[in-house]
Amino acid sequence: MTNYQVKTYEEYEEAYKRSVEDPEGFWSDIADTFTWRKKWDKTLEWNFDEPNIKWFQGGKLNITENCLDRHLKTRGNKLALIWEPNDPKERFVRYTYRELHEKVCQFANVLKKNGAKKGDRICIYMPMIPELAIAVLACARIGAIHSVVFAGFSAVAMADRINDAQCSMVLTSDGLNRGTKQIPVKRVVDEALESCASVEKVIVVERLGWAVNMVEGRDVWFHDEVQTVSKECPAEEMDAEDMLFILYTSGSTGKPKGVVHTCGGYMVYAQYSFTNVFQYQESDVYWCTADIGWITGHTYLLYGPLLSGATTLMFEGVPTYPDNGRFWQVVDKFGVTIFYTAPTAIRALMAGDIDDVLSYSLDSLKVLGSVGEPINEEAWHWYHTHVGKERCPVVDTWWQTETGGIMISTIAGVTPMKPSHAALPLPGIQPILVDSEGNEITENGVEGYLCMKFPWPSIIRTTYGDHERARLSYFSTYKGLYFTGDGAKRDENGLYRIIGRVDDVINVSGHRFGTAEIEEAINHNEHVVESAVVGYPHDVKGQGIYAFVILRDRPERDEYLRAEIIETVVEKIGKIAKPDKIQIVSGLPKTRSGKIMRRILRKVAEGDTSNLGDTSTLLDPEVVEEIKAGAL
Ligand code: ATP
Ligand code: MG
Repeated sequence: MTNYQVKTYEEYEEAYKRSVEDPEGFWSDIADTFTWRKKWDKTLEWNFDEPNIKWFQGGKLNITENCLDRHLKTRGNKLALIWEPNDPKERFVRYTYRELHEKVCQFANVLKKNGAKKGDRICIYMPMIPELAIAVLACARIGAIHSVVFAGFSAVAMADRINDAQCSMVLTSDGLNRGTKQIPVKRVVDEALESCASVEKVIVVERLGWAVNMVEGRDVWFHDEVQTVSKECPAEEMDAEDMLFILYTSGSTGKPKGVVHTCGGYMVYAQYSFTNVFQYQESDVYWCTADIGWITGHTYLLYGPLLSGATTLMFEGVPTYPDNGRFWQVVDKFGVTIFYTAPTAIRALMAGDIDDVLSYSLDSLKVLGSVGEPINEEAWHWYHTHVGKERCPVVDTWWQTETGGIMISTIAGVTPMKPSHAALPLPGIQPILVDSEGNEITENGVEGYLCMKFPWPSIIRTTYGDHERARLSYFSTYKGLYFTGDGAKRDENGLYRIIGRVDDVINVSGHRFGTAEIEEAINHNEHVVESAVVGYPHDVKGQGIYAFVILRDRPERDEYLRAEIIETVVEKIGKIAKPDKIQIVSGLPKTRSGKIMRRILRKVAEGDTSNLGDTSTLLDPEVVEEIKAGAL
C-alpha cells in the first residue's frame, strides 16, 4: 500500500510525533502522493478565531481524477463498485474502475447538457442505487457542489436543505426499495419543489419503473438524456479550497447545519484515514453499510475507498430483510474482508436469533468497524465474538460530519483496542480535554470536553451561507479551539472514550454522568435491548435520571424488572446513578442515521412536549406519540 500506512505501533508513534512537530511537512508528503494539476503554494494557513482554515492553497486538482483516472492504468479492470440490491433474488451489479469512470463521465455530461456548471449546488435525493454514487462523482467531475439529502427525508426536510443551499438542480429516482416497502421518491421531490424556486431541472433515474409525474421543461429521464452524450468528460480544474460538497448534520442536537468541505484537504484526509484505520490492502473487499446520505457514506463508502483504488460494496437494502442474516449472507457472497457499520444495526441484530449469524461462515472478514454513537460493551462483545470470531480487530471510529474523516480510532491491529473506547487519535489529530473554563486537562484518568487544538486537512471550513454559525457552533465556546460538542474520558493509558454529547450530561447532586455510561449499565440487564437516559429537573438532586428502556422479552412483573435494572446500575456505577424513573417503550426516537434524539426524550421527561423542535430527521415519528402517552 501507500508508504504512509503505519503498520506497527512504533510506526504509529513516529508518524504521530512528526505530525505534531511538523504538521505541514507531514501532510505535504502525504498530499504529494496524489494527482494534482498544479502543486499548492502554501500548505496551511489557519486561525480558529474567524475561523479561516486553508489547506494546500493554490493547488489545482479534481478529486475524481484521483478516484478514477489515476487508477485506470494499473487497476482499470479491477472492481471499483459492487452493488447488492434490496432483494437478494435480483442480480447484483459490478463496475470495474474503467466502467465506473465511463459512467461518471456520461452522467457528468448529462449534468452539463442540462445546464449544470462549476459552483452550482445540486441536491441529490436518491436511494442507494449505483446511480447515486455515480451522480455524486459526476457533480465533483464538473465542479458542481453536491448536497446529498438522505432519500428517506420528508418533503419539508428536503425543501429546507434545497433552499438553504439554493440548489439549481435535483437528481432523484422514480422510487425506492426498502425491505418489503416501495416508496415513491419522485412524489416527495414534487412536493418539496412546490416551495423551492431555485430549482430549474430535475433528472430522474428509473429504479422501479413506476409512472411518475414529469413536469414539462423541468423534469427529464436520465435514461433518455444519457443516450445522446459522450462517454468522455474532462474533469473540471478545481482549487484545493473550492467547495466539494455541503452535507447537513444529522440533527440530533438541533437544526441541521450545512457543513462545507473543500476539495484538496478532504481528499487527502479521506484516503489517509481510510487506508490507515482499516489497514486496507489491495485485495480487500470493503463494505460500509452507511447510506451515502451521511458523512460516513461520503467518506468511507465512496471517496476514501475509491481514492485508495479499493473495491467498495454498496447495499440498497436493510439488515433485517429478508431476514436478520442479510448482512452476513452478503459478507459470504462477496467475500467481504472489511465491514463497517453502526451500533444501532448491531443492537438490532443482537436482539434476533443468534443462529442468524452463526449459520454463515464469515471467514473472509479481517477487520470490523463501528461508527455513529458510542458502542456499548454488550454490543461490542457480540460483534467481536459472533461476527469477528475473536479474530478481527474492532475499530470504534469517532468522528463527525464536521471533521470529514475519522479522528479517534483504533488502527486495526496496530494501536490498542479496548471495548467501547475509540482509543487513540490518528496521526495529525490533536485532541485535548478541557474543563468548563476551557483549561486543558493534561493528566490521564480524567474526563472533560473534547476539543481539537490544531487543524487537520478535512476540518469543516464553514456552514453554508452562514459563516458566523460555524464560528458560534464550533469555534467560540473555547478560545482557539475547535469544540466537538462531545464529552470524553481519557483512561490511565491515554485511551479516549466518548461519553456522549455535552448537552446530554446529567448532573446528579454534583456528580456528572454521560448518558452512554448509564445506558451501558442498563443494557447489561439481560432483558434489555436498548435504552436511553436523560436528565430532568429534580428538587433535591438538581437533576434526576429518567430511563427509557426497550425490552427483549417481558418478564411477568415489571416491578421486579425495574428493581433489577436499578440493581444493575448500582452495581456497575453506584447508587448515585440509579434511575429515578424507568419507562418501558417499544422504540426510541432516532434520527435516520440511527442516533437517539435525546432532546425529545428530555422534553418528555420534563413534562413539556408542547414544542419538540426540529423533528424533520426523525425515523419514526409515531414512536414519539407512544412515548408521550406513556410518560411517567
Ligand atoms: P447534529 O450535529 O445535527 O446534532 P450529529 O452530531 O448526530 O447531529 P453527525 O455528525 O452525524 O451528526 O454525528 C457526529 C456525532 O456522533 C459525534 O459528535 C458523536 O456524538 C457521535 N459519534 C460518532 N461516532 C461515534 C463513536 N464512535 N463513539 C461515540 N460517539 C460517536
Ligand atoms: Mg453534531
